[in-house]
Amino acid sequence: MKHKFIKDKECKKEVVRYAKLMDEKGLVNSLEGNLSVLDRESGLIYITPSGVRKRWLDEESVAVVDRDGNQVDGKLRRSSEILLHEAALRARPDCNAAAHIHAPYLTAYAYCGKDIEIKCSTTFAIVFEKIPCLPYGEPGTSHIADGIEDLIREYDLILLANHGCLAVGKTLEDACKLVEAAEEVLKICHLTKEIGPVQDLTDSQLESIYENHPGSRRNQKRS
Ligand SMILES: [Zn+2]
Repeated sequence: MKHKFIKDKECKKEVVRYAKLMDEKGLVNSLEGNLSVLDRESGLIYITPSGVRKRWLDEESVAVVDRDGNQVDGKLRRSSEILLHEAALRARPDCNAAAHIHAPYLTAYAYCGKDIEIKCSTTFAIVFEKIPCLPYGEPGTSHIADGIEDLIREYDLILLANHGCLAVGKTLEDACKLVEAAEEVLKICHLTKEIGPVQDLTDSQLESIYENHPGSRRNQKRS
């Protein structure tokens, strides 16, 4: 069941490239994490298959899934978390890529079911403001994405309670860089516990960053 879409090769390449990169960084493994790219023209989602070490992925292994949820290409079975990707990409017509990753520092918050609202980091203030946590939904079922629309419309990176995180972007570069940046900030936050006490920015300092920084999330959304 081969199909001939112009972006086919391009999409497969992007999935393989970022799956390998996330694996190199220790952010995904054989059992956890999956990346997808949506070709809005054909409606096909290109997603990492389940059960394979990401660094050994090749283009033929990328699973291609049509609008009806049928796998139409790829020698390995699609990730069972495709439902999550579909729901997120449906809710965000401005995005063509999704990264679902069990990054340890982010996932620790997800295990606690807590939104991330730290005030000590300018990076966090500029890029995220907040990383909200979606209530628990059972993996492998459609409940994994219950309520995702409201959160993902507002935030490009969210937590999935007791599970991991999900980022969306125009490209996988955009989605993955959010996960990497958040993970790095949280790692540093953890280190501050050794030094402390943490010096939080005041609410007016934070508000000024949100409003005035040219790269801030608010200004990105406005442009
Ligand atoms: Zn997962």
